Amino acid sequence: MAKKTVKDVELKDKKVLVRVDFNVPLKDGVITNDNRISAALPTIEYILNEGGKAILFSHLGRVKEEADKEGKSLAPVAVALGEKLGKPVKFIPGATRGAELEAAIDALNAGDVLLVENTRFEDIDGKKESKNDPELGAYWAGLGEGIFVNDAFGTAHRAHASNVGISANVENAVAGFLLENEIAYIKDAVDAPVRPFVAILGGSKVSDKIGVIENLLEKADKVIIGGGMTYTFFKAQGLEIGASLCEEDKLDVAKALIAKGGDKLILPVDNKEANAFAGYTEVKNTDGPAVDPGFLGLDIGPKSIEKFAADIAGAKTVVWNGPMGVFENPDFQAGTIGVMDAIVSQPDVKSIIGGGDSAAAAINLGYADKFSWISTGGGASMELLEGKELPGLTALTEK
Ligand code: AMP
Repeated sequence: MAKKTVKDVELKDKKVLVRVDFNVPLKDGVITNDNRISAALPTIEYILNEGGKAILFSHLGRVKEEADKEGKSLAPVAVALGEKLGKPVKFIPGATRGAELEAAIDALNAGDVLLVENTRFEDIDGKKESKNDPELGAYWAGLGEGIFVNDAFGTAHRAHASNVGISANVENAVAGFLLENEIAYIKDAVDAPVRPFVAILGGSKVSDKIGVIENLLEKADKVIIGGGMTYTFFKAQGLEIGASLCEEDKLDVAKALIAKGGDKLILPVDNKEANAFAGYTEVKNTDGPAVDPGFLGLDIGPKSIEKFAADIAGAKTVVWNGPMGVFENPDFQAGTIGVMDAIVSQPDVKSIIGGGDSAAAAINLGYADKFSWISTGGGASMELLEGKELPGLTALTEK
């Protein structure tokens, strides 16, 4: 990577500012999934082992007004992190700045950890965090000693005070291990793939993925389309789609993508359809791509699974984003499972899941360990797949 990483700086006895992504799901104050905390551990532990003092920043949810603060404190995260690290994590409820926070930071010893309160508490008074208020970035940078480690891939596509703002005010803004790995897997796959490079895109909406499809049609050898967005493409081809998902205002875009893609763009050849989304009384496979009137295509069919597996065969790089069907329902999981089987069974394949629902599908269906990389950032990985620069990465110091 052209940017400095945490290994390029001297951390001993230094106050090291670290942006992590602790935006975890919380229910009644209890963390329901702590993957994001675990994903940040290698960087935090490295800093502590090197004798640094880690001062951690993260956002949690959205905070627009005072009432939104309720349930958005990082207090439960400080406790959970302390348990994982096996040492207390200093935390001052409500403090994103001020004398008490500054004194607590000054009192840290080598190997100590402090977590700053939810950075978005600073959004109440003029969106200072989310609009990258220069005063706020400079203030937070001033709490450290010239070193900032960005390990929050999930927010790297945003220019906020707690990533870009701090970076602009320190001598060394460097990548943590998670950020470094995310970039190495996703950006390298798109920019310098080992070929054949197959991209597989699913999920519900074409509108979310137009930029990704366009970029990958240029970079990949094949772009396979599945999921709910299939039907906008089918309708654009004049096929019957019954009551399937369709974005009428994206038919022209779908037509243009089909024309641009030519043989590279691969669509399903059959569907698994039902007579309702929920409470259906009939489920069957279609013969061809057309969906029966009154039915909804809710998964790719068996012929498509076979065809997609043949298209994936021999791939050395696969990027997958978006389930092939309504994978949350066991009746419509076969397409997503079939495609995952095809991906992970290729020898020497670099297999990458671009976050969001496909990551959830792989984890819930027991495939997490079989992929080379599962991205922790939905929006950020989509922007990388679109070929966009990530402001949080651009802001880091060159090697
Ligand atoms: P996205 O958030 O765009 O990646 O879409 C993921 C969602 O798309 C999942 O919740 C799936 O259940 C849904 N999905 C996938 N295929 C279909 C389909 N054929 N019809 C309706 N929803 C679908």
